[in-house]
Amino acid sequence: MRRTSGYVIGVDLGGTNLRSILMDGKARVWGRDSRESLASQGKEATIDQIVSSVRAMLEEAGSMDIPHPSISGVGVGCPGPLNTKEGIVYFAPNLSGWENVPLVRILRDKIQLPIFLENDANAAALGEWWIGAGRDVDDLVLLTLGTGIGGGVIIQGEVLHGAWDTAAEIGHMIIHEGGLLCKCGVRGHLEAYASATAVVARTLAAIKQGRRTILKEWLGGKLDNLSSELIFRAAGEEDELSSEILEETARFLGIGIANLVNLFNPRLVILTGGMIQAGPLLLEPVRKYAREYSLKASIRGVRIVPAKLGADSGTIGAAAAVLKRKGLL
Ligand SMILES: [Zn+2]
Repeated sequence: MRRTSGYVIGVDLGGTNLRSILMDGKARVWGRDSRESLASQGKEATIDQIVSSVRAMLEEAGSMDIPHPSISGVGVGCPGPLNTKEGIVYFAPNLSGWENVPLVRILRDKIQLPIFLENDANAAALGEWWIGAGRDVDDLVLLTLGTGIGGGVIIQGEVLHGAWDTAAEIGHMIIHEGGLLCKCGVRGHLEAYASATAVVARTLAAIKQGRRTILKEWLGGKLDNLSSELIFRAAGEEDELSSEILEETARFLGIGIANLVNLFNPRLVILTGGMIQAGPLLLEPVRKYAREYSLKASIRGVRIVPAKLGADSGTIGAAAAVLKRKGLL
């Protein structure tokens, strides 16, 4: 384990939930807080929730006689695009009214601690690198497979931010020119094929074309309740359509991972998000296709594994971001 001293607070801001954690530099957890992010009530309500959550962690620290000066700062993992150096969130797709929000300045005025901003997927990658699936390696790529596909790239122990913090937008790499339309407006992006949302959309399209599947029975005709978890479970029971969808999804992910492996030469590829609950059923074909499409010299020895920290990777990674910026990690 990478060891250091002092205490840090990590905040993971999502469209639905807001989580915080109080940790020390040896990765011990001293407190947690979870509440709604109140995104639909506008940005002031969400910012108030962040402040309340951080204050709850500070009270927790106080109750354990952890002196305030030993808290190095607060890391906030936030959906982007954002500017980590200036502390501005340019836009957050799942948070209403968030445009050009100087989040670091606002929080610093209210909390009186150093505040550090990090992209949420980068934070997840940092968390896994610090004490999760990637604790033994310094070169890794993480993909978050959820409503969209996010990514984080860590090279030689450092998060790759790029010139203006938009590096590692893995979901928007083109895997099929002129293909399905992505939410960003461009056709053929990985996210339009292999996010949980895309898996559901591709399955619904096939059902509308008359394909038979056990999913219709399972849902009693209520196809609105279809989820990627359910589709992969049906694949596990050898439902033909669901098995095809799973195999195709694995191929799209394999193509994406092969591109990443050829570009970055990671030792480890970490997959996270609800879809990976499918386990080896999804992971095995993903590994097969990634091998097939990668350069042999790059893929040799690469492990493709599920994340270890689950829902905690974002908060732990945001805490790690503070240690990183302070040069403590
Ligand atoms: Zn896109």
